[in-house]
Amino acid sequence: MLRNVPPPRFVFMEINKRCNLRCTHCDFWKRDDDDKAAYFQTEQKLRVLDELAAMNPSANLVICGGEPMLDVDDYFELARGARERGIRALSVVNGTRIRRPEMAEKMILEGPHEISISLNSHVKAIHDRTRGIDGAFEKAVRALRLLVEAKKKLGATDTRIIVMGLIFGSNYKLVDGFYDFVLNDIGADQLKLNFMQPTFGQMGEIDPFFAEESNVDGEELVSIIAACDRKYGLGLNPEWLRQVGMYFRSLAAIGDREKGWAATKGTEEHICNSYDRNVMINHYGVARLCFSDQFPGKKLVHDGDFTRFWNRANDIRAKMRHCNQFCGISHSVRRESSTLQGREKMLAHQVANGTFRTPSMAEELLYGLRALAR
Ligand code: SF4
Repeated sequence: MLRNVPPPRFVFMEINKRCNLRCTHCDFWKRDDDDKAAYFQTEQKLRVLDELAAMNPSANLVICGGEPMLDVDDYFELARGARERGIRALSVVNGTRIRRPEMAEKMILEGPHEISISLNSHVKAIHDRTRGIDGAFEKAVRALRLLVEAKKKLGATDTRIIVMGLIFGSNYKLVDGFYDFVLNDIGADQLKLNFMQPTFGQMGEIDPFFAEESNVDGEELVSIIAACDRKYGLGLNPEWLRQVGMYFRSLAAIGDREKGWAATKGTEEHICNSYDRNVMINHYGVARLCFSDQFPGKKLVHDGDFTRFWNRANDIRAKMRHCNQFCGISHSVRRESSTLQGREKMLAHQVANGTFRTPSMAEELLYGLRALAR
């Protein structure tokens, strides 16, 4: 049966599978693009953006890889396609392809509105070790400084320069210095924290990085982040922070951690809502409601397939609502925004669409109405 569902807010489109770094927490770089001829073509992606813009004029496109900037023409074509349709574009890149001021300025003018650079630490040795390449730190920091400079020069107030940091056993006690470096030294708009999960695209039965680096004292981490919130005026969402503590408590309870995604336990609580806001479209044009292929997807072939998939996926959603996999903590799928401002935006969207799926609906309705009134 076709039921009314609020429109998607984020569509993730994958450009490639390969990468020029060798991250210890990701196996994507072990893949290649030898089957590129079978990929969903840019023209097909742009037609999906037409459907998305018709469904939700304030939707977002997330351009993903691999390292998406290795295919720089496809990258800018997609970003421009989003801009032309009034869709906000976002992307996380490793910074290695932003080497000169001209490229930084092109990124600001024609690239994503929200440019995130992956950086695992302000300590060079930690970043380089976990990114698998000596010199990766200098490249990421150079890209950030060029982007901040270009943004200032061009007065691009609608572009945000963000650092996407992964937190794990070797760096969680250093979070204060990380915020200081990102906000005060580099001058980026925000440091977004992501928390270690089993290795992305894990290819082997054993997951060494997850086994070695998931040993984080969740309570200690929460108190460190809370202190940073006070010190740097971050406006963090207390419910998100509570869930971060719950997440690491859940990790500590896993007996077979070395198995990564195949480990027997998930998180204590269900914390994702990817199915209510996201569509992930893989290299071959298969649409899903999250990155996991444990839930059914649909290959997009005809015009209208994207809209039909979204509107008819309630059976899939019903199953996903009971999923407690570790990826639920990821910034792209978790229900709770890390900041109070982000939470207000999300609640305003729920008010506008009349959808509440959390226990304290009345409280959220009032909160959302206040956000809309501002
Ligand atoms: S927690 Fe489950 S439903 Fe949510 S993103 Fe992960 S696999 Fe998908």
